[in-house]
Formats: sequence, structure tokens, C-alpha cells
Amino acid sequence: MLFAAVEISTIALVAVGVLVWFGCAFYTAGMARNNGSNYHLWLLIGVLTGPLGLVFGYLYLQMTSERSRRIRYGEGGKSDIAEILRCPNCGESVPRSFVDCQFCGASLSRKKHRM
Ligand SMILES: [Zn+2]
Repeated sequence: MLFAAVEISTIALVAVGVLVWFGCAFYTAGMARNNGSNYHLWLLIGVLTGPLGLVFGYLYLQMTSERSRRIRYGEGGKSDIAEILRCPNCGESVPRSFVDCQFCGASLSRKKHRM
């Protein structure tokens, strides 16, 4: 009787563990799909690694979604990747992302200075 009770609680524990495990796998895959990554690949990773895969997938997708966001904005011409412009004061080439000229310190405000 006692043995049976232990067995049932063990089965219940394993069942909950499996549910949590697969829950993590499906959650990871769902995150991947939202990020435009491969759903089935991440589902497989999630099934193999469970909660670890969830944590890893979360961190990895955060990184890649940041990168893909930049690439998307880059295609729209709003990239933060350095583009070269000429300083209006000294004429040196300065990355567009700089607020001030790295050579003479002049302000590179985009409102005053259009290329
Ligand atoms: Zn300058």
C-alpha cells in the first residue's frame, strides 16, 4: 500500500517534470518563431535540453533579434552602423553616428548639416 503510494507520487512527479520539460521546449520554439528563427530546430533543442534550452534560447534570441532589428533598420536607411560624412568644419571623414567631430570637436548636428 505504501509502496503503491510512493510509486504513484513518483509517476506524478515524473509526469509533471515531463510536462514542464516539454512546456519549456514549446515555449522556446514559440520564441524562436516570433523571432523568425527555425521553429522545429528550436523545438528539437528545447526537447533535448529542456529548461536549459529555454534559458539559452532566450539569451540567444535576444541577441539575434537585436541583430536582425539592426539589419532591418539598415535596409530602411536608419542604420546605426557607421556611415561616413564630412565634418563641416575641418572636412575630415567622420562616422555619421558621432555627435561631435573626432578631429576638431565641431558639432555634427544633422539638422544644420544635410548631405
Ligand atoms: Zn572636424
